[in-house]
Amino acid sequence: MIRESDKSSKAGKPGANPWGSSDSKYSGNVQSISADVDYSLQRQSLLRDVAFGRVGTHEVCDASPYLINASRFHGEATTRRCPICRREYLWLVHYIFGDELRSSAGQARSQAELAMLATSYRHIDVYVVEVCRGCSWNHLVRRFAVGRDYLAQPAAASTPSASRDTSRPGRTGTN
Ligand SMILES: [Zn+2]
Repeated sequence: MIRESDKSSKAGKPGANPWGSSDSKYSGNVQSISADVDYSLQRQSLLRDVAFGRVGTHEVCDASPYLINASRFHGEATTRRCPICRREYLWLVHYIFGDELRSSAGQARSQAELAMLATSYRHIDVYVVEVCRGCSWNHLVRRFAVGRDYLAQPAAASTPSASRDTSRPGRTGTN
């Protein structure tokens, strides 16, 4: 479902893929913003191209050192084997984008950090990239949005800033 972003349509547009691989693989889809996009079809078709020799493995196993590093520090382990080398397990790296993030945009974050960010910002676009540390295979897996705008909260119980009466009973007993 593509929802016209209400205010800033250019919110969180990643200028360059921080995972640093050739963006030809993603055929420009990375640019458009919508709620939740699954890239598994593109992945399958790319893997088919590799299997048939139409695309060389050197073209798809091009993870940047930054992406490999990000997988070490922020990566989420999976139990899925790499589709290219079939030896290593894949790691998922979550990259965040959004105007509100300012200088943090384009950085990798762990899932725990994402959960925290989701309560602090209204809208964050998250790009999930899978990477193999063995052969450097990498591919965009999914894109979704998190943030306060997306928290399915039942009209949060209003907690009017508990204004504790701090007016101390002043020791005015100056007698
Ligand atoms: Zn691999």
